[in-house]
Amino acid sequence: MNGLMQSQPLLISSLIEFAERHHGDAEIVSRRVEGDIYRYTYRDSASRARQVAAALDAMDLVFSDRVATLAWNGYRHFELYYGVSGSGRVLHTINPRLHPDQIAWMANHAEDQVLCFDLTFLPLVQAIRAKCNTIRHYIALCDEDKLPKDSGIPGLIAYESWMGAHSGNYAWPSFDENSASSMCYTSGTTGNPKAAMYSHRSTTLHAYAAALPDVMGLSARDAILPVVPMFHVNAWGLPYSAALTGAKVVFPGPALDGKSVFELIEAEKVSFAAGVPTVWQMLLGHAQAHGLKFSTLRRTVIGGSACPPAMIHAFQEQYGVEVLHAWGMTEMSPLGTLCTLKNKHLTQSAEAQTAIRMKQGRAIFGVDMKIVDGNNEELPWDGEAYGDLLVRGPWVVKEYFKSEGGDPLVADSQGRGWFPTGDVATIDADGYLQITDRSKDVIKSGGEWISSIDIENIAIAHPDIAMAACVGVFHSKWDERPIVAVVRKPNTEVSREELLKFYEGKTAKWQIPDDVIFVEAIPIGPTGKVLKAKLRDQFKDYRLPIVGQKP
Ligand code: ADP
Repeated sequence: MNGLMQSQPLLISSLIEFAERHHGDAEIVSRRVEGDIYRYTYRDSASRARQVAAALDAMDLVFSDRVATLAWNGYRHFELYYGVSGSGRVLHTINPRLHPDQIAWMANHAEDQVLCFDLTFLPLVQAIRAKCNTIRHYIALCDEDKLPKDSGIPGLIAYESWMGAHSGNYAWPSFDENSASSMCYTSGTTGNPKAAMYSHRSTTLHAYAAALPDVMGLSARDAILPVVPMFHVNAWGLPYSAALTGAKVVFPGPALDGKSVFELIEAEKVSFAAGVPTVWQMLLGHAQAHGLKFSTLRRTVIGGSACPPAMIHAFQEQYGVEVLHAWGMTEMSPLGTLCTLKNKHLTQSAEAQTAIRMKQGRAIFGVDMKIVDGNNEELPWDGEAYGDLLVRGPWVVKEYFKSEGGDPLVADSQGRGWFPTGDVATIDADGYLQITDRSKDVIKSGGEWISSIDIENIAIAHPDIAMAACVGVFHSKWDERPIVAVVRKPNTEVSREELLKFYEGKTAKWQIPDDVIFVEAIPIGPTGKVLKAKLRDQFKDYRLPIVGQKP
């Protein structure tokens, strides 16, 4: 017997329709590429998203055609999120920080038909245009009068005139909730990138889950600032969860430096912000250097790479901002776990609570996870055993676009498919996940594993260190030994010996890095993460100070 409830497909358009109807006057504020602040409401946004949908219908585009973006976080990008997916097309957000050849490769692989871009990226578009074989329409996200006369792009369209020519009376179509809605390519550190293809159903379920109190805890009383780019796994789903809750949204545009972000937080009374650690490093650096305090910011989600404990401390103790450490990946839409305390932790000491907050957190309903050994046998949840982390759930990929790389799933004894994350982790008895490392970054020293994350976290806890990255280098006896590359804070002088001494008592002796290398900068990739592969390459000819001796 079936249940007797109404059946409605879970569609992305329903999110913006809801926001328009129930939170019509809630604001969406954007710092524009033009430099000014632009504000309007969900009501305005919903109407313009429908104009975008109507404009796409008027082009020769069919259902599931891909529409690409090269754009910062802003209201026009937000309209495309809804207009493109809501009308049945697939939004392909491209990371503009990637190499132009890689961008062209992705546009061709996705068979993008339209490319919408912020004028900041005009030189990039000019550089890739000849290599993009499928793009038929180029749309600059600007007013007609801002359109460059000599863009070198024949038929370049101004977004405002393009969508402005259509009525906002468009009716969102209804279709199968499993239809593709948007896509993101993984950064593809080895081989060509592969794309996760999200559906309306997976995106809507993810939006519900992200808003839950034990996840991001979003509400109509929040003003949220997605610093995480809308080209980085859909800004972690925030553009969708914002509409679902009616929260005010504040988009930072291209200005991601500490000063600009701080000023926006204060001016727009932001209560919740989300970003990767490298961005928060800039924000904290600015606040610390100028003795500033946050007057409205209460919570910040930090993820994408391990959040250093020193950052959690600084936010919590110096600024009274709760850090929610999150873990996820492109293939998971991206949220997997988020770290909030359980009731029983509330009576524990501040120290014990902080120790929990440093973990990547508990699984969100909708995500099942397990750790396995080399024989695919599940390992215990004791906080000690570490193994390969596998996940499954309705917003986890089952395969990549165009079946690239074949079937990625690993079957269990019941024939259920699990996605191997490539991360190595422990899970404790309360279900808190702790990422030990990426399997390719873990340092294998004499048969034992050393977590590069642990080594980096200790270095960053030193008051003179701004950034740290640990990699393994060849060792004739132990196969690999850790070395740590560090960037000193300005006007500080910590020495190699002092830093090595700082490790004593904080980790097992054999895990202390064999060398400290002071560098000007650490290579950062297109999503703000340390490029370990580049660093390993940089140190490939490096020889340890005393080769062959037991450390
Ligand atoms: P890519 O894999 O393409 O670099 P993703 O954004 O999908 O981009 O990265 C996912 C990976 O980032 C995870 O598998 C994990 O290794 C790492 N990661 C994400 N969040 C965290 C976190 N909080 N702590 C440690 N590692 C993290």
